[in-house]
Amino acid sequence: MPYLDHAATTPMRQCAIDAWVEHSAELNPGGQYGSGRRAAAVLAEAREEIASLLGADPVEVIFTGSGTEANNIAVRGLFRASPLERVVSSPIEHPAVLETVKSLAVTEGADMSWLPVGGDGHVSDLSALESPAAVACLMWANNETGAIQPVAEAAARVAESGTPLHVDAVQVVGKLSVDFHALGATTLAASAHKFGGPRGTGILLARRSPTPAAVLTGGGQERGLRSGTVDVASAAATAAALREAVAESDRARREIGALRDALVAGVLASVPGARVTSAEPVLPGHAHFLFPGANGDALIMLLDSRGIEASTGSACAAGVNRSSHVLEAMGVPQREAAGALRLTLGRTTTTSDVELVVREIAVVVERARVAGMV
Ligand code: PLP
Repeated sequence: MPYLDHAATTPMRQCAIDAWVEHSAELNPGGQYGSGRRAAAVLAEAREEIASLLGADPVEVIFTGSGTEANNIAVRGLFRASPLERVVSSPIEHPAVLETVKSLAVTEGADMSWLPVGGDGHVSDLSALESPAAVACLMWANNETGAIQPVAEAAARVAESGTPLHVDAVQVVGKLSVDFHALGATTLAASAHKFGGPRGTGILLARRSPTPAAVLTGGGQERGLRSGTVDVASAAATAAALREAVAESDRARREIGALRDALVAGVLASVPGARVTSAEPVLPGHAHFLFPGANGDALIMLLDSRGIEASTGSACAAGVNRSSHVLEAMGVPQREAAGALRLTLGRTTTTSDVELVVREIAVVVERARVAGMV
């Protein structure tokens, strides 16, 4: 049964399940007694390991409840900590960032500047980063197309204007090498369930200065940035998953990249008029296609009926696909955008998964094009 939606979530690694089970009985790491100290020691170890794997200091690692929450805390918090009102963002951010900056514009007077995006899926001009702003946001890799964005260049540009840079690295952590200090961003968001950790655990890396203003108020855990009792078992599971993901990332990039290349070649050879959405550089596990004239929901359902699990990649509310703001920002015509399909590969993907898709895709697209005509 090919599961080809690893960018949405990927199965938990056995090492993460083991770490979670081992530490599931830990109590409150804030407790000033033996069991609290034991929980705090497990948490400190997880924090140190994550910091060292991502090129950060332990104090810069904040555990959150999701990647969405990490993005919200950083973007809202940096905006509120600044006397400026200008915010720079790309229009292809995940809704966790995009809806946050839009809400800052509506409710807190943020003055938005948008980075332009080319038809190849990449931000094409970074000059908006040269004027000072409260915060600038640029995702490391796009969740729909997999297109890798010029975050190092963005960090260099904001260094001159003194603007804090937030990088949503949810699709990148555990796949490409990440060195927070070398990158020079102010904050960076990650999510454990994207690299084989538990769902419902995010990581925010936050430099000591400027520190985001607290978005959540409460007991002041996690440097006051994410109040709430920390889930120690999930933190330990996240560290275990990240350790394994980073250790195997070179091999995974090669092997998953080779499977993806075979998938892309097979699909393009089988389906007339098909194209790959973004130009390189693209994440090794991402294959995002446009099948002009096809109906996206029909594509997903027809694949599902053949045991192939995939998505269009655009944010999906209650199972209903909305049209993609990413494809719109790239200038993809509506007729093409309606026939989008995202196949994302991961460590459980096999050659026979790829072969099955290549065998079935022509008839699936043909039928989805009939559905697209009505
Ligand atoms: N940012 C990006 C780029 C994502 O792909 C996702 C999840 O799809 C998120 C943020 C949100 O992460 P989470 O599901 O942990 O809230």
